[in-house]
Amino acid sequence: MSRTPTPSGRRTGRGKDVPEQLGFDLMPERLFVCTPSKLTAYADCPRRYRHAYVDRPAPPKGPAWAHNSLGASVHTALRNWWDVPVERRGPEALPRLLRATWVREGYRDDEQERAVYDRALGWLESYVAGLDPEQSPLGVERTVAAKTSVLALSGRADRIDARDGEAVIVDYKTGRTGLDADDARGSLALALYAFAAERVFRRRCRTVELHHLPTGTVAAHEHTPESIARHVSRAEDTARDIMAAERALDEGADPDEAFPTNPGALCSWCDYRRVCPAGADAPNRDPWAAIESTVPTAVPHQQHPDAAPSPTTP
Ligand code: SF4
Repeated sequence: MSRTPTPSGRRTGRGKDVPEQLGFDLMPERLFVCTPSKLTAYADCPRRYRHAYVDRPAPPKGPAWAHNSLGASVHTALRNWWDVPVERRGPEALPRLLRATWVREGYRDDEQERAVYDRALGWLESYVAGLDPEQSPLGVERTVAAKTSVLALSGRADRIDARDGEAVIVDYKTGRTGLDADDARGSLALALYAFAAERVFRRRCRTVELHHLPTGTVAAHEHTPESIARHVSRAEDTARDIMAAERALDEGADPDEAFPTNPGALCSWCDYRRVCPAGADAPNRDPWAAIESTVPTAVPHQQHPDAAPSPTTP
C-alpha cells in the first residue's frame, strides 16, 4: 500500500520518518482514485471493502452468483446491440448477441439456465422495440471521469443519451423488484455519473434514469445542481473515511478495527462471508436464489422461437 504524507508532514510506514523541512506540509493531498462502486462498497461494509480493495492477495470469493451472470449477459448484449449496423439494429439481432456473450455461472442446472435465457431474451426484445435504432447514444458503457478537491472519480455508465441538447444517464437493471423515482434520486452512482458526464461532454446532465428490463419501467429523477453537489459531498466524506482507515492500517492498526464489519441483510449475498465471522449468522443463499424469483421454477421452459440453439448448447 502507498504511504501518504501525514498532516504533520512526516511520512510514516516502514518506521521511517521524514524531516519536516522537506516541505510535505506544502504538498497537496493526494486525490482519492475511485469509482462509485468502490465508494458504495465501503459505505455498505468497510470490511467488505477491505477484502475487495485493500487485502492483497484478496481472500477467495464465494461461488459466482447467477443474478450477476444474468446482469452481465444482458448488459453486454445491449452494449453490442448498438454496434450492429443501423439497418440491422432490431430485435432480430438479439438472440445472436445474447448467446455470444451469455455467462453461464451460478445457475442451478441447465433447465434453469435455459429458462432464464429465454426470459432475458424476451426482456431485451421488448426493450429494444421501444428504442429508436437510428438515435445512437452519446456513449454506451462509456467511462466518464471528473476531479474534485478530494476525488479522482471515474465510472462507466451503461448509456448516456443525448436528448434536447442535454446528456441523460441511463442505467439498466435486471433485479427482481421494480424501482421508483426515489431509487433514481438516491443513487450515488447515477449522480456521480451525471456530475462527470456534464464535464466530459460539456453539456447539462441532470436527468438520471433506471431502466428496469423485467418490467419495462423507467424510474427517473431530475437532479438540481444542489442535489448533485450533495451526492458529491457525500462521496467525498466516504473517501475521507476510507483514506483515514487506510492510513490507520498503514500505521499498524488492527485491520478488523480499521475496517469494521457492518452485518445486515447484505451478508447473505456477500462474496467474503466465508472469511468474515460477522456474516456467519446470515441466512445461507444458493447462488441462484435471486434468480428463482426472477424466473420462478414453476415457469416451464419455453424455447423462444428465435433462441435456437440455447446458450447451454456447446
Ligand atoms: S459478511 Fe457481512 S459483515 Fe462480513 S464482510 Fe460481508 S457484508 Fe461485511
